[in-house]
Amino acid sequence: MNEKPYLLIVDDDLALLEALPQTLYLRLTAVQVDTADSAPDALRQVQEHDYDAIVSDIKMPGMDGLVLLAKIQKLRPETPTLLITGHGEHDLAVQALRGGAYDFIQKPIDRDYLVAALCRAIQTHRLRRELAENQRALERHALSLERIVEYRTRELVEANAIKDRFLGMVAHELKTPITTLKGGTQLLQRQVKRAAIDEKVSQGLEDIERSINRLQRLVNDLLDASHMHTNTFGIHRRRCDLVELCRHILDEYAAGSGPTPRFEAPGEAIEAEVDADRIGQVLLNLLSNACKYSPKGCPITVTLQQVGSEVTIAVRDRGVGIPPEELEHIFDEYYRVADVEGAPGSQSGLGLGLSIANKLVERHDGHIDVRSAPGEGSVFSVVLPMFVDLPTEEGRN
Ligand code: ADP
Repeated sequence: MNEKPYLLIVDDDLALLEALPQTLYLRLTAVQVDTADSAPDALRQVQEHDYDAIVSDIKMPGMDGLVLLAKIQKLRPETPTLLITGHGEHDLAVQALRGGAYDFIQKPIDRDYLVAALCRAIQTHRLRRELAENQRALERHALSLERIVEYRTRELVEANAIKDRFLGMVAHELKTPITTLKGGTQLLQRQVKRAAIDEKVSQGLEDIERSINRLQRLVNDLLDASHMHTNTFGIHRRRCDLVELCRHILDEYAAGSGPTPRFEAPGEAIEAEVDADRIGQVLLNLLSNACKYSPKGCPITVTLQQVGSEVTIAVRDRGVGIPPEELEHIFDEYYRVADVEGAPGSQSGLGLGLSIANKLVERHDGHIDVRSAPGEGSVFSVVLPMFVDLPTEEGRN
């Protein structure tokens, strides 16, 4: 960058073209001035040099100062151009300013005014150039930041994929010994009952079975989560009767350690295209939460309803309820709220249950609505379309 102010003076009046640079050399320290006696000559020089300011007569044969101004603005939009107008040529002066001139100088030229206007123009040009440089530096910086973010995101995605594969593998490996343990414990329990062995042993076996069941649920959650992350989660829809499905799940739930929930459903069948295993899994999850977060003996109600082409399965409890600030995150993965003191079987899981249930319902093109208030209980409503346009299934799996 040229440190000295670098100026161009354009005028077809050769006497003025000689006199003006002298004036500037005298009044401005360390300045370099080029001259051009025509607009085309000026343009050629403007193309070659980045002037700090240009002063041009407005009236010149061939190309006049206004046309020259327009061309300079295209070539060097940041270079201020001052136009010299005849005395009293107000219209021209206005035209010049409207055309983007930095200032206009009237003839006869007042040398002090010219020097002051040029100093301002030089300063303006320097500031504009600095601004443009800073902007370019900022853009470069933003670009490099963008690249870093991209790189780190890629790294994170890769690390996540490795973690998911690892989790999936561990969960898968754990499944078999857990099933074996469960089978063995049930066998032992039957034998203990038959042989009328000490009650403590029988109690101990029951405890072991409960722990194994819990372990099995956790491992299944982990496995489901990892399948969802790696997009290897299949939904296999088939037409089935939801009344029948819900009744079956409620019986299964009551046959386990759970209480018997109330079931409200229409008398006739409600047919829908769903993955019965997965919707059953969602309902079981909601039921076990309803029980887990309610005091013993509190009623739990499951209501099945068809509205238009949608069906709703609502699980209602009168338990501890959920505070509004926690409700917002209820389907977030790994979201854990502190164990509810005194809640029956107060052991939270991995905080994956609801997130998996929500994803499963979303895969059915449905959603889960939650209404809850602390101390008043909660209603989790699974809303599902009864029929879907196939083949969405293959696209998703
Ligand atoms: P967890 O395995 O920890 O129970 P979930 O994803 O099933 O994980 O549930 C997340 C959290 O949502 C629970 O820890 C609990 O605080 C809250 N929650 C879920 N269902 C209910 C409910 N019916 N009543 C009150 N709180 C609930």
